[in-house]
Amino acid sequence: MSKPLFIHQFQNIYPLSIHSINNITVCVLKSDRHDVLLIEGDNDLGFKGVLKQVSGFSYIEAPLSHANANTLRSHFPFTKPIPVLRKQRSFGLGDRLGIAGEGHLEVFRNVDAFPVLAQQSMRELTLTERTYEDVLDAASFAAFKFGYHDGFGADGDHLKKMEDIERVLNIGYTMITLDCSDYIKNDVMQMTDSEIEAKVKLPKELIDRYLSNPFEIEGATLRFSAMDLKRAYYVYSDAISYTKKVYETFFKNHQYNANLELSIDETMTPTKPEEHFYVANELKLAGVVLDTLAPRFCGEFQKGVDYIGDIKQFERELKIHAAIANHFDYKLSIHSGSDKFSIFTLIGKHTKGRFHIKTAGTNWLEAVRLVAIQNPALYREVHAYALESFAEAKKLYHVTTDLAKIPWLSTLRDEDLPKLFEQNDARQLIHITYGAILTAKNSDGSLRFKTRLYDLWRHHSQSYKNMLQQHIGRHVDMLYKGFKS
Ligand code: ZN
Repeated sequence: MSKPLFIHQFQNIYPLSIHSINNITVCVLKSDRHDVLLIEGDNDLGFKGVLKQVSGFSYIEAPLSHANANTLRSHFPFTKPIPVLRKQRSFGLGDRLGIAGEGHLEVFRNVDAFPVLAQQSMRELTLTERTYEDVLDAASFAAFKFGYHDGFGADGDHLKKMEDIERVLNIGYTMITLDCSDYIKNDVMQMTDSEIEAKVKLPKELIDRYLSNPFEIEGATLRFSAMDLKRAYYVYSDAISYTKKVYETFFKNHQYNANLELSIDETMTPTKPEEHFYVANELKLAGVVLDTLAPRFCGEFQKGVDYIGDIKQFERELKIHAAIANHFDYKLSIHSGSDKFSIFTLIGKHTKGRFHIKTAGTNWLEAVRLVAIQNPALYREVHAYALESFAEAKKLYHVTTDLAKIPWLSTLRDEDLPKLFEQNDARQLIHITYGAILTAKNSDGSLRFKTRLYDLWRHHSQSYKNMLQQHIGRHVDMLYKGFKS
């Protein structure tokens, strides 16, 4: 289709945003501070905006509001999220700032994994003062602006409460990650075998089910001792009942076009393969169909840095976890996947290319690295504030950051600042203080950093896109190396 002349009246239309419906062109214009939708002619198609004229052409200029995002989704189905967990490969990309869409989509245009563009936990929303609507809308507008037609997911990440799950599904999210940590009994770690013995009485059917014969799962043998079973029963029973309740309320009758992920990763101890099997098997017997499950793997998956732990043991257990997931017909989900370069190829290999990986904060780290490159003075202010806020931020995240290992700002030349992002302690410092940085206020109530940061990111959006393309691209390449030669 030839470009309608109306488009030629503007300088900065995103070229891939030009779409048409009922012969009306709709596109996105980049203006100084904000992007806006342009709708050709005077038929507003339901978008809420202002009628304007340019060289004899009428058009509607409409803000990227929630109402207009809903209208966009109703006209252009590719801007609506789809369920992706049943696809062979999917990749979560929580975009905390709502500006990473372009870089992310550049990566996923060229690979056969489905991106989850909208993915935030309650914790992230609270800390960034965003809403579930915002996050979804940013994803829809990104797909439209950059002409991404292949489908993306939206994840209500780490949800615990029934009312939150319902809200997110009603907004149109296509998966939820059920976080059962409130129902997982972590005090088991402090309990001795004799305390367990005294406290836990196993139902007879469990004894028959698990203690009579070992289980053979794709070449691996899982054998329960009575104590293993008692501990698993004690730790996970309530989580299993709660999962069943969530499944029956929201998923069983396909009320929503959405997937269910169960996460048992935010617990104190790693999920043993036997425990993974136990949870999966009990859920299956209860009639629950999961699309993905995230165990807590051995070793440490700290935010924004590589895997910490025994890689040989990780590989051994990963193989069994993947086999269990396969046996129960769901995908293995790997959380806190940002920057885990030393294990990606193993994950690709042992899941045989069938996985869901979540990354979240790494695109924020790249955004701040861009600040260090482009505006050292601003970076120094942000860094100093992060140091002040670290103790508070650490209450919400498990990290082993040693602030003493971070070089003093005063000892660094401007051109050395970006190198801080190669140092794990400095990475984690910035990684977990995003909420404090984005919401910091001056004494007059104005935002201390946020406005200046967003201006910089907008001004350097091409560099940011390139950085993400490279950084997320590296994650994807290493995963694919495991199963594609
Ligand atoms: Zn998680």
